[in-house]
Amino acid sequence: MKSAVRNLASASKSAAKIKEKGPSAKSYGAFFKQMKKIDYTLIRSHRRTLCLEIRDGALIVRSPYLVTRWAVESFIKSKQSWIAKKLKQTKDKRAQHRFIAGERFLFLGKKQDLGIYQKEQLKEFYKEQTGKIIPRIIKKYARAFTIKDKIKIKFYKSKWGSCTSRGHLSFNAVLAMTPIEVIEYVVIHELVHTKVKSHSKHFWQLVQHYDSGYKKKRKWLRVNKHNLSL
Ligand SMILES: [Zn+2]
Repeated sequence: MKSAVRNLASASKSAAKIKEKGPSAKSYGAFFKQMKKIDYTLIRSHRRTLCLEIRDGALIVRSPYLVTRWAVESFIKSKQSWIAKKLKQTKDKRAQHRFIAGERFLFLGKKQDLGIYQKEQLKEFYKEQTGKIIPRIIKKYARAFTIKDKIKIKFYKSKWGSCTSRGHLSFNAVLAMTPIEVIEYVVIHELVHTKVKSHSKHFWQLVQHYDSGYKKKRKWLRVNKHNLSL
């Protein structure tokens, strides 16, 4: 326990040091901009030390209650190369499907034995399921949003959904891998785009209006995106 106490002392000391130096607004800005690139989940508890953990390809920071966000992020920054190395290691291990009998694949947020083990058949399965789920969700919001045209379901590399200037909606076929509430958020996001094109404050207010828990779902997508492919 002694060493743990010492660790806490040094962690809080470094936080105090940073405060004493009094970083300018500009350096805060630059610092947090850089931190934005590292997604992490902060778990505060009655622990005595700061600690980092990589779980399922995501960074988790465990921190005592009284350590400032600034100190937490300085700590992360000081461990950047360790984090990068660990993330790469887990990434190499992850999402390498083997396509063998009994293998489980994500469906609605849970790994399941779908009884389908071939890549092309799995792609068909996800496309079909996503194509069934999304219109049902759109129906739920039919009073607020009118969608005239058929929606498109395709495999996209880097988007969950999109809305053209004419209001045509497309969705990524892998969405059936995600929890139903995440799919619902993606649908709401695109439906709101039929009214507001840009990601303005007003846009996010509208998203929030239809889905008050949307931030959690965005985070889920960020954290899990590496596992959402075939
Ligand atoms: Zn958008």
